[in-house]
Amino acid sequence: MAYLTLKNINKIYPNGFHAVHNFNLDIEKGEFIIFVGPSGCGKSTTLRMIAGLEDISNGDFLIGDTRVNEKGPRERGIAMVFQSYALYPQMTVYDNLGFGLNLQGVDEDVIEEKVKSVAKILGLTEYLDRLPKALSGGQRQRVAVGRALIRHVNILLMDEPLSNLDAKQRVTMRSEITQIHEKTGATTIYVTHDQTEAMTMADRIVVMKEGYIQQVGSPYDLYFNPVNVFVAGFIGEPPMNFARGVVNGGKFKIGSNTIDLTGKLGKNAKKYEGKEIVFGFRPESVVLGAVDGAAQVKGTVELTELLGDNTNVYMDIQGVKSILKIDPHDTPKTDADIVFSIPQESIYLFDGETEFVIK
Ligand code: ATP
Repeated sequence: MAYLTLKNINKIYPNGFHAVHNFNLDIEKGEFIIFVGPSGCGKSTTLRMIAGLEDISNGDFLIGDTRVNEKGPRERGIAMVFQSYALYPQMTVYDNLGFGLNLQGVDEDVIEEKVKSVAKILGLTEYLDRLPKALSGGQRQRVAVGRALIRHVNILLMDEPLSNLDAKQRVTMRSEITQIHEKTGATTIYVTHDQTEAMTMADRIVVMKEGYIQQVGSPYDLYFNPVNVFVAGFIGEPPMNFARGVVNGGKFKIGSNTIDLTGKLGKNAKKYEGKEIVFGFRPESVVLGAVDGAAQVKGTVELTELLGDNTNVYMDIQGVKSILKIDPHDTPKTDADIVFSIPQESIYLFDGETEFVIK
């Protein structure tokens, strides 16, 4: 039996808006699960239903074998870190961490022990006497996480906890949160719209769109085996390139380039003859120059962005826009006509109508 079970969960808000549709997910103890998707896809709504802050319209939420739909947040043994974590500005880090326990009337020496233990896990020991205003954004965020951890909950929920931090702090906190998760072993569900956060931290990612789960899988799975155009385009930075077109005699055109797809389509070749498909390839999967056996494409360089470890090359392939991610030493000149190759194994084909991957 899974540790957490979400069975056919739906959320229909009082105004009639159906925000989450038939959400099904089993979560194992200690897993780090990330809900990811664009704004408004229902991530926070689902998290808030798990927390007990929002009613579940229908469906079952189980912790172990107990249905907890009607139980309050505290009874569920869940703690939550919000996007807008507010620390008490007039209280030291120590008091901010111990405040909740204090309210519950926990003995002072027990509070001290717990505060010190959590501070140690979070690397806050030397800041316990400081006020929040004397901390960096990342340190404040750690105090907010600490306030959740101190209750020794088994389930930790986080809703975009890094969104108030600058880019550098976010990178640091990503690895810190991963380490905190490893140290505490708490089952963690984390919401973000940032695919990089999802890819770098999650054991499993749940990709959502318009209230529906699109795919659940490991970061590796989602990157290499996306089930549809949406997931393929959402995971990866820069995103996967797409070109739409009709298969004709087993061939497909990107701009004026003809690509033979008979091998790639295999048993599906007949089914897709004369049908529209979506051809996809990742910016980082291309090789410059013409490679035998690969799909060869000629286009014009519109713009290059040297990023240090790689260069993004913005291509115009006779009207089809694409981005290539290449070695900076090979950066081509703007306006140059170049040829690049897409290895067969890096070509993704999707049904033009359903947008599901062609298998
Ligand atoms: P974001 O990243 O912007 O927070 P999200 O994926 O977390 O987005 P939710 O906050 O879960 O999205 O919202 C899902 C949908 O439900 C949105 O279309 C939102 O407008 C709608 N919604 C949220 N709260 C309510 C409410 N109280 N009443 C009606 N509709 C709501």
